[in-house]
Amino acid sequence: MKKIIKKCTHQDCNLKTYNHQNKCILHCYKNGWTTEPKAVYENIDYNIFWNELRKFIDYFHTNNGNDILIFEGIVFPEFTKYNKPLTSNIDEPLTNDYYFWKKGETRSFKKMAHFKNCIFYNFDFNLMKCESLILDNIEVKGTLSISNCDIEYLSINIKVIETLKIETLKNLELNIYNSNINCSIFNNISLKSIKFLNSTFNKIKLTNLVIEKGIFENINFNYIEKYSNIKIEDINKFQYLSVYTKKTNDREYFRFFKNYFFDKRDYIEANKMYKREMDTYLKITFNELMKPQNIFENFQNLIILGFGKISSNFGQSWFHSLILIIIVLFFNIYYTSKLKLSYLFSGYANLWDKMAQLFYIKDIENFGMIDLLFKVLIALLVYQLTITLKRKTRF
Ligand SMILES: [Zn+2]
Repeated sequence: MKKIIKKCTHQDCNLKTYNHQNKCILHCYKNGWTTEPKAVYENIDYNIFWNELRKFIDYFHTNNGNDILIFEGIVFPEFTKYNKPLTSNIDEPLTNDYYFWKKGETRSFKKMAHFKNCIFYNFDFNLMKCESLILDNIEVKGTLSISNCDIEYLSINIKVIETLKIETLKNLELNIYNSNINCSIFNNISLKSIKFLNSTFNKIKLTNLVIEKGIFENINFNYIEKYSNIKIEDINKFQYLSVYTKKTNDREYFRFFKNYFFDKRDYIEANKMYKREMDTYLKITFNELMKPQNIFENFQNLIILGFGKISSNFGQSWFHSLILIIIVLFFNIYYTSKLKLSYLFSGYANLWDKMAQLFYIKDIENFGMIDLLFKVLIALLVYQLTITLKRKTRF
């Protein structure tokens, strides 16, 4: 009886099915594949996968030329944990078959490698060369790391991912769009351009970046874990539009963008950043209040910050200051004149006139400590009112 060879159900794939799945070794899910130490690259399943993938690459090159590669719907097994490249010299010919490349080749995708609708488990693009690396509508079941590569253009559109790590790259054009990234780390990159568009970064760390130009547009940063050592070479070549930041423990982000908007003379946005910076500083100071080494300093800062928050919401609300001035004046009258509440509100008391009079010291003979405290408080509130109005009218 003739044995029927089942073909992979992935479109345009003629390979036979693998391991009782209805897809071939390239397109089947790798959920059950081992991630034991040493069982990675040398393991039989992995060996078959990479051999088959190199055959696919040969076939693709024969039909499309040597400079580009398109992988469609391929499911890449987890493989990075226990395999290190042989040398750090990317241009050195390989002495063995190595992942995508055959013995004698270098670790280069030449002009373009396009991964379309592919699924990755934990995966590393490390120490390899490629003019354009395009990750298009991919899914990552774990961490995708791109580091120490010679890549000029990197375009990323991710459906689902746990962690995205991009580190130690030079002269990169980075483009991330329509993506939802749970945890992301960008570190030690010089960027010819950076574009973050229509994406959500649940948790993000941005460190040691030099940016020539770029845009953050329609972005949610739910939690900025770290933001440090970022340099934008020319602020006029960087746009920051519709970016929402939920929370952060690092006030540096808001301080940075406060200065950015201030330099651009966009004082409304600069003021909003100032408020967020101070809110974060207040939260940090409150959380660190009981730290023994600087308890006194923290306590002083907390009073000043608390006053700034209550009196004008850090320069955002002049109404806060005005209402507080009226309340303080009222208590000033109530405590110093000993008049009953019912009288003060009766209409006979000329409450507003009395409040207005309290701006001046009329009765120097009876001016006591309580009056002085009220006067100081009112002076501070008037100062806050002035500053807030100044902030709001500096356009
Ligand atoms: Zn297939």
